[in-house]
Amino acid sequence: SRPVIYAITPTFARPVQKAELTRLAQTFLHVSNFHWIVVEDAPQKTALVSRFLETSGLIYTHLSVATPPNYKLGRNDPNWKKPRGVEQRNAALRWLRENLKLSNKGVVYFADDDNTYSVKLFHEMEKIQRVGVWPVGLVGGLMIEKPICDNVTNKVMGFNAAWKPDRPFPLDMAGFAINLELLLKHTDAWFSYDVQGGYQESEILRQIVTKDQLEPLADCCTKVYVWHTRTEPPQLNVEQMLIKKGKRSNAGIEV
Ligand code: UDP
Ligand code: MN
Repeated sequence: SRPVIYAITPTFARPVQKAELTRLAQTFLHVSNFHWIVVEDAPQKTALVSRFLETSGLIYTHLSVATPPNYKLGRNDPNWKKPRGVEQRNAALRWLRENLKLSNKGVVYFADDDNTYSVKLFHEMEKIQRVGVWPVGLVGGLMIEKPICDNVTNKVMGFNAAWKPDRPFPLDMAGFAINLELLLKHTDAWFSYDVQGGYQESEILRQIVTKDQLEPLADCCTKVYVWHTRTEPPQLNVEQMLIKKGKRSNAGIEV
């Protein structure tokens, strides 16, 4: 039978949040064997995300855990300063380990809320025995960051990464997925604050897999099925003035 795809999405409140979640949900609805684990970066689950998930039509688990204040990015901090999603992804790993057994066939994917996913990506993941890898579009200063796949042996020979190419696994979070069995067996594999910027992917992978075990997918890493899109924060300068006058444009309407 087909494995369940467990997609772990850290998310936080901001003007574009519901738009991001809507884009993701409407992609995920096309994947039948799908379970969405949404982890809010918040001390409590919010009404917006709770309502959104209830009416989404998806199978989901809703969790929340706040990033500790000392690790939270400040408004004007560049985003490489601190890792994002560490607390949330670890909460999801804990949930998987507490709620699933080795008899549950599954694949675990870290699906950030601002990326763009093709349905084709989720079909590829069904083939994963240990860790599957594939190209990611629009990341690391390149059009494509990808494993280099030998098309005779169908093995990963290296990586084309330009950004921090010395990382043990120079992959983006969107560029791999893990067989659930590996995460259930390696109960001490976690994301960590105690690593250099950009090393979260390497941190989790080095604990569960070796480079020669990676399984190249997406036609020997020649197809792009996920894009590291980033959503521009909206200009809300007029709204700020309305708020001061107590007349917001969205009074009583969820955006
Ligand atoms: N995120 C979060 N709390 C934050 C900032 C980000 O939970 O304070 C989430 C965000 O919604 C996304 C993931 O963490 O799902 C990665 O963040 P981002 O997309 O900003 O990272 P980047 O694209 O820069 O790697
Ligand atoms: Mn992102």
